[in-house]
Amino acid sequence: MDGIFFELPVGLSQQGNIYKNVELLRTNGVAEKVFLKKLAEKPFTWQGNVVSIAVKSIGPFEIGSECRQNYLKDNSVTIPQIVRNLTLADINTLMVEIHRRCWVSFIPKQEVICKYCGKRLVADIDLDKIDYFPETKEQMEQFSDIGYSSIEVNLKDGFIPPVIPKITDQEKYQGITEQCYNRFVFRPPLLQDAIKHEAYFSDTIGFWRRIAIDCLTAIQKVDENGCVVDTLPIEFHTYYGLKMFNEYLTGIDLRSIRTELTEHLPTLPYAYYEPCGCEDQKDIPMIMEASSFFSE
Ligand SMILES: [Zn+2]
Repeated sequence: MDGIFFELPVGLSQQGNIYKNVELLRTNGVAEKVFLKKLAEKPFTWQGNVVSIAVKSIGPFEIGSECRQNYLKDNSVTIPQIVRNLTLADINTLMVEIHRRCWVSFIPKQEVICKYCGKRLVADIDLDKIDYFPETKEQMEQFSDIGYSSIEVNLKDGFIPPVIPKITDQEKYQGITEQCYNRFVFRPPLLQDAIKHEAYFSDTIGFWRRIAIDCLTAIQKVDENGCVVDTLPIEFHTYYGLKMFNEYLTGIDLRSIRTELTEHLPTLPYAYYEPCGCEDQKDIPMIMEASSFFSE
């Protein structure tokens, strides 16, 4: 795969418009340096650096040339706001596309374990075999015009706001602590959210809770027809803060929030399916680690 033009599945959202067309730059000496300089403690800053240096433009926005010029001056990358505004889902897609179109189209010696026979395989992952899953393609067709402005998560157990002394007893908030709010609404998580919290990256659960609180836009009560019948006043997002995720919600609801935030938006998977070669002849996922990207 060597074309330098492709489309993002989600797209860059700016002032109500969505831009999906990407053009990449050929890899030069600056790009090579940035690709290979992985920042173990700052995985999302590194991904932002890679995208800023590799992408010529998204829609009308020029990105890469200026970043490369600046790198020659001060040996560092400043990630443009346009790139920070990309969804994490599109950053995943861009990492695969940049790797296979501008670097190499395989990742050598990835360890894959067949869950049927237990055999360990060391496989070279062929990035050209990666494609959107069929259900993702369907989703992309369905949402191509309306875009992805919000992620709604319907909760099984729901959230009953605990009493806060001197606040929940105010008249305007009467009855709030007896309501069960069963839908949390989020905006899509962006690269800048992940960069902000990347110090917590190794604690996956804590990392995603911090992103969730930043992306939370509404806490709603929905009836059986899906109609919103009540919305928790927005100041309560701050009053409860991370405690909602650390103390109040149940595990099952926390898991569905995390799953939706990480998997709801369409993205290229870091895997494809191939038969293991054992008797079962079952397809097993050939998965690669993001940390194996851009190796020498
Ligand atoms: Zn097997």
